[in-house]
Order: sequence, then structure tokens, then C-alpha cells
Amino acid sequence: MSNTYDAIVIGSGISGGWAAKELCEKGLKTLVLERGRMVEHLKDYPTATKNPWEFPHRGKMSDSFLKENPLITKAAGFGEDTAHFFIEDKDHPYVQEKEFDWIRGYQVGGKSLIWGRACPRWSSNEFIAPARDGYGIEWPISYDDVAPWYSYVERFAGICGNKDGLATMPDGEYLPPFDFNCVEKDLQQKISRKYKDRHMIQGRWAHITKPQQIHLDQGRSSCQSRDLCMRGCPFGGYFSSNSSTLPWAERTGNLTMKTHAVVHSIIYDDKTGNASGVRVIDAITHQATEYFSKVIFLNASALNSNLILLNSTSSRFPNGLGNDNGLLGRYVCHHNYRGSLGGSIEGFEDVYYYGRKPAESMMANFRNFGKNDMDFVGTYMSFMGAYRTRGNSDEATDLIGADLKRSMIEAGPWGMYMYMQGETVPKYDNRVYLSQTEKDPWGIPKLVMDVSYDNNDELLLKDFLTQGAEMLDAAGVKNISTHDNHWAPGRDIHEMGGCRMGKDAKTSLLNAYNQLHHCKNVYVTDGACMTSTANQSPSILYMALTARAAHHAVGELKKGNL
Ligand SMILES: Cc1cc2nc3c(=O)[nH]c(=O)nc-3n(C[C@H](O)[C@H](O)[C@H](O)COP(=O)(O)OP(=O)(O)OC[C@H]3O[C@@H](n4cnc5c(N)ncnc54)[C@H](O)[C@@H]3O)c2cc1C
Repeated sequence: MSNTYDAIVIGSGISGGWAAKELCEKGLKTLVLERGRMVEHLKDYPTATKNPWEFPHRGKMSDSFLKENPLITKAAGFGEDTAHFFIEDKDHPYVQEKEFDWIRGYQVGGKSLIWGRACPRWSSNEFIAPARDGYGIEWPISYDDVAPWYSYVERFAGICGNKDGLATMPDGEYLPPFDFNCVEKDLQQKISRKYKDRHMIQGRWAHITKPQQIHLDQGRSSCQSRDLCMRGCPFGGYFSSNSSTLPWAERTGNLTMKTHAVVHSIIYDDKTGNASGVRVIDAITHQATEYFSKVIFLNASALNSNLILLNSTSSRFPNGLGNDNGLLGRYVCHHNYRGSLGGSIEGFEDVYYYGRKPAESMMANFRNFGKNDMDFVGTYMSFMGAYRTRGNSDEATDLIGADLKRSMIEAGPWGMYMYMQGETVPKYDNRVYLSQTEKDPWGIPKLVMDVSYDNNDELLLKDFLTQGAEMLDAAGVKNISTHDNHWAPGRDIHEMGGCRMGKDAKTSLLNAYNQLHHCKNVYVTDGACMTSTANQSPSILYMALTARAAHHAVGELKKGNL
């Protein structure tokens, strides 16, 4: 009995934090199982207020660390100041049948501590396009189903942005945006003058620019534009589970958090036709324990949730929980981050900017909207910004004393950059599965990654680079360069799918409320549920789907349906 709760949430990252908040607020005694260590807001941000000279290696990692961790050190934002919020390669092995850079943060709060915080909404097009254009199945929900839940989570999390009235990137419940700098404003005007359908806008980011009462009630305050977010923010200026949803859940008195709890599998009960609980291995002692509940939310992050379901075998489900159609682990997809452009800007040398804006401008998608009229399927959005270079930085190494100081404070010319975030097609052959021979230190089969790019991705990338260069040229940008970084999948840090939502149990694993079609008291509301990727950053959608599913689960429990 002491191991029995109303609800269990697996994982305490972005989506698990929301599940915990919603279920606890609705009065359910909720157990959150987290494989990593505790990270308490404020207390456990050891580098948050350090100056650059206080780091032994001035922010870089030692050569020996880089050699031992070739994978995780590739992650955006990884450094001496943030390393403690990422895993180390040797501790969490997996198998790369094809090269896949799996970026992870295993601790209370998960990757909510180290995410980039971009929060654009999907448009109605992205829910319709995969089926309309023949590159995916039909989503069981539309933009209208999810719009009120976007609003619900945006208000609480605190998302800043402008109301731009674009169909391609709908407006949300936004706090005031960060300003464009003078060059960004100029670029925006020149691009929109030339291209009526291309909109460079102030980005939508999970930063509090003007706290509302709901943010003050969470103990959070305004972003200070320090741009040190990934160290953990002592002001609660950006949204993380640690600063927002988890303490809110704890305040209800209904939350129990167990750390170092590696979920091995979900237990299926033949008699009830539902899941009865989960098996957990203690990360340190390796002791096994079982916990029980009426409802389970799986929020271990997309690929870990696939792993747990595949490992949840029983006589009813020999191939993984809910996996009657054999599609669990298939149709894994991600974002295409391969393309970027850079250039220099003439003029504006009498203007500077103040503070370190932790937000970039965005350009909403302008391809395949409403109909497929390109030689590729899918869409892309872009991030962009302009910055002032440091004067004389190249020569500075030869200087000393006053000359060196002067060269360091002089501002140089302006530069600008732009990079893509493209949709990839969910494909049957892009899959993850369990190794038959290799296990991790907790006796759980290792996950095998078999995911790759295809020709559609190449065509989409080519279009982005061509269009980007044309647009920047039209806006007067000089010395334009284009790059394909040839990154392997995974490093784009938006892995999705494997347990997709759909209308038909023959072609999908989850229904419109994220319940397993064949085991209704298990809800999967992280990236594993994604039927397609769209072009927009996904986490705000996971938050919305999680809140929506939690309300559904509470309703179903009340009706006695679970
Ligand atoms: C550098 C970087 C930048 C990013 N930028 C953005 C961005 O700008 N916008 C955006 O939308 N997204 C961004 N993302 C992606 C974003 O971080 C993820 O989409 C989001 O964190 C997913 O939420 P989640 O709850 O599914 O997983 P996570 O936040 O990863 O949380 C999963 C939790 O589950 C735990 N867990 C895993 N396995 C088990 C197990 N077996 N048992 C118990 N617990 C387990 C983990 O320890 C973790 O705490 C970024 C990611 C990275 C790394």
C-alpha cells in the first residue's frame, strides 16, 4: 500500500513537470519517478552567478574530458558552466546502427534547464499537411483542439513575443517581446518590402519580460538579459520545471518525488486490461521496486519513452506495451538543422545595443502552406539575428597593455546569421529498437538508433540556402556565406515519434488524448507522441498536449473509465 498512488509520472522534465502540476492540482496523489539527481531551484545552480575568470578553464572543458565525451560535448550550450546539467557519454550507452547524437540531461527538471526556450505555435497547416500531401497519417487533433491549451500553458510558463497576426505562426498569450536591434529592424523592413509572404518577427521565447501575478506567485521575476540561462536562472526568468511546474505541484501537498529511480518498464494487468504500475531500478543500489497507480503518464523524453514501452513486455503484449501493430519505435523523426547563412552589414556603426538578449528573431515558414507546391514536402522556419563584432579581435593577440584594452572595447562592424529548423518526414524505416545482446548498467536493453536523412531533407535544405541567400542579398547583406554542417540526426535536439498519435489503431499507438489505444490508463505526452514534426520548436506543444491529457485523465478517473 505504501507504494500506491493515484498517478505516476515517469520523468520530471518539460512534459513531466506539467503532468505533475496538473494532476497534483486536481487532487491526485502523484508520484514522479526521475532517474537523475535532485536539482532544486536556486540551491542547485552552482555556476549561475560566476564570472568568466572564476572557471578553471575559462568555460572550456579539458582535453581529457573532450576525448572521453565526444558525443555530449557537441551539444549546443555545453561548457564548463553547464556540464553538470548534461550526462556523460560513458554513463548512458546506446547503440548507433546509424550515427545519432543523443543529447540528454538526466536530473530533476530534465532538459528544461538547458533548452533554448523557443516557443512558436504550430499553425493549422502543420496538423493537416502530412495526410494532405501524402507524407504521413492524419493527426487525430486539429489546431483548434490544441489552441486553448497553448493559451493555458503560455500564460503560466510566461512566453514573450509580438502579436503578428500570421496564419503561418499563430499568436499566443504573449508577454512583451524583446526588441529588435537597429540592424534586425532594418532587415525586417527590407525583407518584408520585397517578399509579401516572408515575415521576420520578434521571436517567441519562454522568458518573463513583464511578470504577471501568476509568475510572481511562482516566485519568478523578470529576465535580466544576462544570457546565462543554461546555468539555471536564479531569477526564474525563463521557464524550467525546476522554477515553475514542480514547485507548484509540490505546494499542493500531493507530490512525491523519487530521484535516482530508473523506470525499467510498465506493468500490465491481464485481469483489468490496464497498466497497474511500474518497475523501477534504483540508480545507485540497483535494487528493484514496484509502484502502483490508477493512471500513468510517460514523460521520459521521446526516445526513452519508446525504450520503456518496448521493454514493457507481457503475455498480452510480447513486443512492447500497446504494440499490437508492430509500429512502436517506428516513424521516429527530428528537425533538420543543417543549413545556416552568415553575412556582414555596412553602416550603423554609431549604434550599439545594451544587455545580452537571450532571444533571437524568427522567420515564419513560407513553404508548402495550404498546398504542396515545392519539389519537397514539409516546411521550415528560421532563426536569425544581427550582432556587433568586437573591434580588432584578430589583431588583439599581438597587443599588450592599453592598446589591448582599447582594442577589446572597440566595437567592430555588424554581422548577421540565419539558420533553419526544417521538418523531416516520419518514415517507417527510421526507427529505434531494443538491442538483443547489449544492456545498460541497470540491466535494461540498450536502445539502438536507426535513423537517417533522406532526399527530401536535401531538397528542403537546398531551398533554404538558396532562398536565404537571395533574401539577405535583397536586404543589402554583404559577404553572404552558406553552410551545410552535415550534422547527424540527434544533434538537432528535437527527437520525436515512435509512439505516434492517430485516428486508427492499425496505424498509430495513441488516440486523440494521448492514451495508448490498447491500454487506456497509460498516457504518452512527450515527443514520442508526435505524428509529424512540423517546423516549429516542439516543447510548448508537449506542454499543451500534456495539460490537455491530464485534464482528460482526471475526467476519465471521475467517470470510472480508467
Ligand atoms: C541544447 C538544447 C536546446 C533546446 N532548445 C529548444 C527550444 O528552443 N525549443 C524547444 O521547444 N525545445 C528545445 N529543446 C528540446 C527540449 O529540451 C525537449 O523537447 C524537452 O525537454 C522535452 O521534454 P520531455 O519532458 O519530453 O523530456 P526532458 O525534458 O528531457 O525530461 C525527461 C526526463 O525523464 C527522465 N528519464 C528518462 N528516462 C527515464 C527513466 N527510464 N526513468 C525515470 N526517468 C527517466 C530524464 O532524466 C529527464 O529528467 C532543446 C534541447 C536541447 C538539449
